Amino acid sequence: MCGYNFGSSGRAKPTDIVRQFDNAIKQLGEVRFLKLYTSGSFLDECEVPSETVDHILKHCSDTGTRLLFESRPEYITPGRLGHVLALHDRLEIAIGLESANDRVLRYSINKGFTVADYLRAAELLNEKDVDLRSYVLLKPPFLTEAEAVADSISTIEYASKFSETISLNPVNVQKGTLVEKLWRNWAYRPPWLWSVLQVLRTTQTNGKRLICDPTGGGKERGAHNCGKCDGVILDSIRAFSLSQDKSRLGSPECGCADVWRSVVDLDGFVMGGTCDLQRFFRRHRA
Ligand SMILES: [Zn+2]
Repeated sequence: MCGYNFGSSGRAKPTDIVRQFDNAIKQLGEVRFLKLYTSGSFLDECEVPSETVDHILKHCSDTGTRLLFESRPEYITPGRLGHVLALHDRLEIAIGLESANDRVLRYSINKGFTVADYLRAAELLNEKDVDLRSYVLLKPPFLTEAEAVADSISTIEYASKFSETISLNPVNVQKGTLVEKLWRNWAYRPPWLWSVLQVLRTTQTNGKRLICDPTGGGKERGAHNCGKCDGVILDSIRAFSLSQDKSRLGSPECGCADVWRSVVDLDGFVMGGTCDLQRFFRRHRA
């Protein structure tokens, strides 16, 4: 489902990244909290060379800026983390756990690590007092809508034991991916916003922050409903993410909720899930 590899360049040199960072910082001005998304692993020295990482950490240390970056768990080792913390210790590290179910990690996501790998890294971060942000993926391929909802709920509950913040990320259909191929063949539909709402409403996080900002929300390639109720629901999801007040999710109503309920009920009886008939008929009517 991830097409970020198509947006990266193998020709970027360490000095290019440093220049890009310095330019961006100049434009940003003074900030207290900096989120640095490499769409990969900031701690993987093949992706971001050590001297580049050091440059960025030193800048944040000098300016007293809290820094958030992402990394796969295998790069969060005592040695690497010790090196980083010696330069700057006001950190939040994000890990894409996606699912706390090894079968989903392996067969739906092809993630390349296991829940045990996440646990080891999470415990190390907890021990070193580094805040952990965990990403949870809603509806990777080969899961029914109901399975996807159940998987996200149990994953959020698992991750909340170790994380300060959990970010729920509904799958969006990105270019050049297997998910896009399935989607083109009517065999994949991104999650309904009703499913996103259900996960946000029912999950217990023990006071940990749960946030969600669906990429491509309301569009065909992102989490969406019928088109009429999407805007209101996306607004309520944003309001909840900022306030952590579940009442902000409201109780929106729309005729498409019945379709969603039918899909959730039927999905399990159909091998491989129901196909996206709504989009099929919308396209063929048009
Ligand atoms: Zn609707």
